[in-house]
Amino acid sequence: MSEFDYDLFVIGGGSGGVRAARVAATDAGARVGLAEESRYGGTCVIRGCVPKKLMVFASEYAGIAADAGLYGWDISAGDFDWSAFSARLNGELDRLEAVYRKLLSASGVDTFDCRATVKDPHTVTLGNGEEKTAKHILIAAGGHPVRPDMPNADLGIVSDDIFHMEALPRSILIVGGGYIACEFACILHGLGVEVTLYYRGAQILRGFDEEARGLIAEEMTQRGIRIHNGTNIVEMRCAEDGETPEGLGASIQQMGDSVGDSSMGNQGSHGGGTRKGPIWVKATNGESRVFDRVLFATGRRPNTDGLGLTELGVELGRNGQVVVDDYSQTAVPSIYAIGDVTDRMNLTPVAIREAVAFVETVFNGNPTPVDHNLIPSAVFTQPELGTVGMTEEAARDQEEIEVYCTSFRPMQTAFVGKPDRVLMKLIVSKASRVVLGCHIVAPNAGEMIQLVGIAIRMGATKEDFDRTVAVHPTMSEEIVTMRKPSRSA
Ligand code: NDP
Repeated sequence: MSEFDYDLFVIGGGSGGVRAARVAATDAGARVGLAEESRYGGTCVIRGCVPKKLMVFASEYAGIAADAGLYGWDISAGDFDWSAFSARLNGELDRLEAVYRKLLSASGVDTFDCRATVKDPHTVTLGNGEEKTAKHILIAAGGHPVRPDMPNADLGIVSDDIFHMEALPRSILIVGGGYIACEFACILHGLGVEVTLYYRGAQILRGFDEEARGLIAEEMTQRGIRIHNGTNIVEMRCAEDGETPEGLGASIQQMGDSVGDSSMGNQGSHGGGTRKGPIWVKATNGESRVFDRVLFATGRRPNTDGLGLTELGVELGRNGQVVVDDYSQTAVPSIYAIGDVTDRMNLTPVAIREAVAFVETVFNGNPTPVDHNLIPSAVFTQPELGTVGMTEEAARDQEEIEVYCTSFRPMQTAFVGKPDRVLMKLIVSKASRVVLGCHIVAPNAGEMIQLVGIAIRMGATKEDFDRTVAVHPTMSEEIVTMRKPSRSA
């Protein structure tokens, strides 16, 4: 009989925590407990990737219907019914949450629907005061969106709140230029919202390949999103009588107000974004304007507040993240952490990899570090950005490179006279000929980059790409038909 209640206690039922619990229980025969204070599935399933992607799909239909007319179809998109869509969306999220719960119970994992904190290296305290002991504790508590530290910031909403709006606003200011800001700018624009984006830096999507960022900004602008780079919000308050959202002259009384659902139990919403009326905003460029809503997409913070970690000697970093080694182990040997709470690479598939590597290391006696290199990812803007490996800027700092690049109007939208452009780009080492990076800006770039990622992971050279016969007619065939470098650096 073990001296502990469990071999493993997991705090957090998101993608990482659930995977670790299930694999430890089923593959390693561990006795596992898991506590989740909100909904099973975590950020990805409940308020991130999944509902976001369904909103991406929803937002594309108006454009598809408009193009269909030029392809000979007698159809039009009509009006978008947010309540019908969100009812269906919520039904889908309920279904997925039930699947997660079922997977855990089928794996023999004991679940506790409450918050858990760490009392000592082998004990967690549940919300009802009960204590559970475990040989190992895994922190997989995720993260939450944060607002900037400024007066009245709680008038703005954060990404969690988007999914709980009762109606779409007519106009929105999005603050930030990262993944979430750009994705929601495109989604909301596609759903008919007038979108303005303030980004404090010189160009949106900092950290991605510059040419790709430039094209996405151009395409977003050309579709009608107003991007103001080098601009931030300096002041905000409730709009006064007579201050109506510009260009709309709108009564916003029709707008819903039940956003910021605090029952979601995450630390990010702070119950904010619950007001009805428009918001007056002053920007760093001196302009003042009125918007129906303000969305802060200004980054995320790990959920470590009040978990009891620092008291035990677990080190937290500057953003509040749990500091771990290559094996996801903290400074307290029995406590590990994976996923967004460690703020390494905040992506669902990475959290899942970290979960599996943790079980392999701790329960299967096979120490397995997680390789965070060459991870393909996508930004679901319109058009999408798919990326893997080094940017041109990073690669040329490292070694001599050749850049193979082409930008063109794809057949499907060129046919209907749209100016949309796509970009296919390969970064190649001059010395080894290995493809160091690939960046694609195109519809469905996320689907394409997954497959290019395999070749690059295998160490493919430019000549391997050249030897591959094109699939015609596709956009992605350009990836294997670029013969001459656009430039060397
Ligand atoms: P990001 O870190 O990507 O972007 C935050 C943005 O907010 C940056 O543009 C940043 O500017 C800006 N910002 C930060 N603080 C302030 C401030 N005080 N005032 C004005 N602007 C500010 O965070 P996100 O929240 O967009 O996304 C978080 C993470 O979630 C991502 O890094 C990604 O890992 C993950 N994610 C992945 C997705 C995907 O795979 N498709 C989708 C959504 C999220 P600056 O650039 O100057 O720092």
